[in-house]
Amino acid sequence: MQALIEFKINNIIDMSDFSLVYDKKSMDFLYEYLNNYSPTSYEAENQKRWLEYLKPYIDDYMVDNYGTVVGIINPEAEYKVVIEAHADEISWYVNYIDDDGFIYVKRNGGSDPMIAPSKRVKIWGRKGVVPGVFGWPAIHLRKRGKLDPPALENIFIDVGAKSKEEVLEMGIHCGAVIAFDDELSEMNDKYFVGRALDNRIGGFMIAQVARLLKENGVKLPFGLYIVNAVMEEVGLRGAQMIADNLKPNVAIITDVGHDTTTPLIKTKEEGEFAVDKGPILSYAPAIHNKLMDIIMETARENDIPYQEEALSRSTGTDTDAFAFSSGGIVSALLSLPLRYMHTTVETVSKKDVLNIIKLYYFTLQKIENNHDFRYFS
Ligand SMILES: [Zn+2]
Repeated sequence: MQALIEFKINNIIDMSDFSLVYDKKSMDFLYEYLNNYSPTSYEAENQKRWLEYLKPYIDDYMVDNYGTVVGIINPEAEYKVVIEAHADEISWYVNYIDDDGFIYVKRNGGSDPMIAPSKRVKIWGRKGVVPGVFGWPAIHLRKRGKLDPPALENIFIDVGAKSKEEVLEMGIHCGAVIAFDDELSEMNDKYFVGRALDNRIGGFMIAQVARLLKENGVKLPFGLYIVNAVMEEVGLRGAQMIADNLKPNVAIITDVGHDTTTPLIKTKEEGEFAVDKGPILSYAPAIHNKLMDIIMETARENDIPYQEEALSRSTGTDTDAFAFSSGGIVSALLSLPLRYMHTTVETVSKKDVLNIIKLYYFTLQKIENNHDFRYFS
């Protein structure tokens, strides 16, 4: 039996074989999951989608008050290990509607005004979803030096209305949430391109880990909590809530990290990280050295390439929320290298995605039940 499982594992997670992770069912799910919307604090609809995909591979699940979803394997076990990603995406709020019917916005997360002009948007109003566009003065009409670059103060949305009354009549109100209207695609057979790969590709990866564990008959000795947290983009809020709630023993987070090798990024300051070179593994106070040792050892044993990064007092990811809660949860971060973060053309490598799934899968099998991570006792 063991030999058979070994054989299956090697076959399935062989790097030349993307078949299980990128089979039709998975890809259909990935496209549906990415092509739908999950603005911060409006994640519920897409969280349901994620849970439906995950259900065949888990024993139980829970949903918290703000919408974080947790799939559970071995719910009866006392020792709890979390694998986590965040479900929300950056978006905008309607902030002000002027008398001519143009809409000014506020950010919901780290949305970038610089890239907004000429993007199509969806606005979730009281009468349903309303299409609109971020307009911008034509190149012919801009006098050199007279126009400031796109910023929060000057970008505006046109919904085809001529007055404030008409906008309100369309069901749009202050506080209505807005997202860029854009879809997932692939580039050169090697890359996924789209909005909100930060971090729904993470939700895809942790779901695939659960699927591989189930389909390969891997029995873990501890409880595995597959967490898709809300509200990361506004300060790691969903992770804070669920960490306090679950009080797990270990948490391995995945999020995206910057590829710094594209033009106009100073590599000396930002370090040198690139897509296709494997997960970025960070050193930071929040990251537990002994857990990171296990992860790096697992990577080396399974020929998974990785890139090492120094972070300072914060990782800027849900890792911080887990590490510094509930008396200190043993935490680590697997960052997926990504180009053009918080744009609609976020780009990640299919190979890196597979390598993170693989790294999770083998690392979980190296963590013992009641694993004691204290440096000494
Ligand atoms: Zn982000």
